[in-house]
Amino acid sequence: MIEDANHVPANTTLQTDVCIIGAGAAGVSLALALQDSDLHVTLLESGSDQFAEACQALYQGSITNEQLHPPADSYRVRQFGGSTTLWGGRCMPLDPIDFEERDYIANSGWPINQADLLPYYTQANQLCEAGEFAYTAEKAFPASRPMRPMIGGFVSDTYSSDTLERFSCPTDFGKRYQRRLQRGPVRVLLNANAGCFSIGKDVRTAGPLPVKTLAGNYFTVNARVYVIATGGLETARLLLASPGMSGRGLGNAYGVVGRYYMSHIAGTIGIVDLSQASSVWHGYEIAEDGTYCRRRLALVPQAQRELRSGNFIARLHHPHIPDAGHGSGILSALYLARPIVPYEYAKRLYGEKPEAQASTIAHLSNVIKDSPQTVAFLWNWLRRRTLAERKFPSVIVRPKNLRFSLDFHAEQEPNPSSRVTLNSSFDPLGMPRINIDWRYSEQDLRTVNVALSALKNAFEESKVGSFSYQPEEVESEMTRYGAYGGHHLGTARMGNDPATSVVNADCRLHEVDNVYVVGGAVFPTSGQANPTLTIVALALRAATHLRKTLSAGKAGSAPATTHL
Ligand SMILES: Cc1cc2nc3c(=O)[nH]c(=O)nc-3n(C[C@H](O)[C@H](O)[C@H](O)COP(=O)(O)OP(=O)(O)OC[C@H]3O[C@@H](n4cnc5c(N)ncnc54)[C@H](O)[C@@H]3O)c2cc1C
Repeated sequence: MIEDANHVPANTTLQTDVCIIGAGAAGVSLALALQDSDLHVTLLESGSDQFAEACQALYQGSITNEQLHPPADSYRVRQFGGSTTLWGGRCMPLDPIDFEERDYIANSGWPINQADLLPYYTQANQLCEAGEFAYTAEKAFPASRPMRPMIGGFVSDTYSSDTLERFSCPTDFGKRYQRRLQRGPVRVLLNANAGCFSIGKDVRTAGPLPVKTLAGNYFTVNARVYVIATGGLETARLLLASPGMSGRGLGNAYGVVGRYYMSHIAGTIGIVDLSQASSVWHGYEIAEDGTYCRRRLALVPQAQRELRSGNFIARLHHPHIPDAGHGSGILSALYLARPIVPYEYAKRLYGEKPEAQASTIAHLSNVIKDSPQTVAFLWNWLRRRTLAERKFPSVIVRPKNLRFSLDFHAEQEPNPSSRVTLNSSFDPLGMPRINIDWRYSEQDLRTVNVALSALKNAFEESKVGSFSYQPEEVESEMTRYGAYGGHHLGTARMGNDPATSVVNADCRLHEVDNVYVVGGAVFPTSGQANPTLTIVALALRAATHLRKTLSAGKAGSAPATTHL
């Protein structure tokens, strides 16, 4: 059932078995996975089912270097469904190598491996509506209808073009699962803002949890366990603002909370000339189950080890949109549409100051000269994106001369100096706001440098084309737009050692017995993969753990498996 927290009687205490804080991808997945258990579950969500400026403003904070990180209230949404109300839907799992301790990536290594997540990845794919858990061309497409090769004749020991990204609708977890939650036993409270945890008399137990609404209601929740699912930045905020045993923040006796803050390193660089290749296909294909799939170039694990590089993938990309010199009516139409493109997408499409870079007249002229193609594109976009339930994921333009730019997405090394802390200001509910000091490291630069150089060699050796770029521009290109928005990772990392991690392999705080974290905050390393599929898989795994541990003592307890 879904209720408004303003209707909960003021100053009362709600009793529950599991209190989930946050109804984004993680919180909604966990709630759905506990629906048929014998546990009483309460899901607290700060937002309502509509976007509200006052609620979003609770996310405001300060940024140490505004060139390197977007504002704290951008690239995340404080609303039922969380940031999945805005996400792009690109799904892929982490690779086995991402879980390994690698001597060339400082602070790497998870206490679990990919096999531990595999059963949950399959279910996560269903919840994300990304179809089958099949992430190679061979697995996703039957032999009778093989996927087109990305670049005909491209063969390399260092790069594979067989792995895929699959696309969610993109599923808004609030909208999509609202009805299921409305009908189910989980008590969902909207407009419910969790405050700071107190520590009980028994210091290994946190709670009760104060809850406030912006309209002025106040009550508390007394739960057997709490699960923080508020996203990577807000998790750090909630933990740091709660005193914990040490007085330095809940789970923060060793000062680890908020450190190791990672995103991904991404940029667009150089020219890939494929005019000599026998065939080039860089667009989407639709799998049997209807999911859009796209190939990319992935640095293989053995090459990562030999090059001492983090994980890295690259895609063939269209020319720089604001530069009307590309002559494409489609890209110029996209340029002219920039006032209606959300900030979070406009930033990378157009750059920070597009007006200075391009002339509207030149773009209009491209649209007119290229009108048959542009009209066909706009019609397709309306049909397959604007009006479709499963949306065409992005603009794909095939340059006539087969000269592409290269879009890359790389692992970021976990760095303790890259950090989320509390600043000295407070929001209207009395919660301290955050400061974000995102940093990249020498290793991050090394990863991109060696991976690009290996790609250049791979093109030369396979003789299907060439890749040219300026090595001295790598650092400025990979930081041009700063941290890759929306991927907030590592601020409450998972590990076995309480001195260097915040949660254990079950996602439970080392410091207390009854607080868990699910979300990007627990990632010890980022891999190259967009994080949401793994976040959902971790939430489903946490559900199995909670069913086992909490149901054990209850009469007629449900089996410890998860049914969605
Ligand atoms: C523009 C954009 C594009 C993206 N594209 C992709 C993509 O293609 N692929 C991908 O994998 N990922 C993508 N992401 C990232 C993806 O959206 C996040 O990884 C995912 O939403 C994280 O889920 P979450 O549940 O951990 O956090 P969130 O979705 O942020 O949910 C957190 C929830 O907690 C609530 N909350 C916060 N504080 C409190 C509190 N004190 N009390 C109660 N509730 C609270 C919030 O209102 C929110 O509903 C993108 C993000 C953005 C912004």
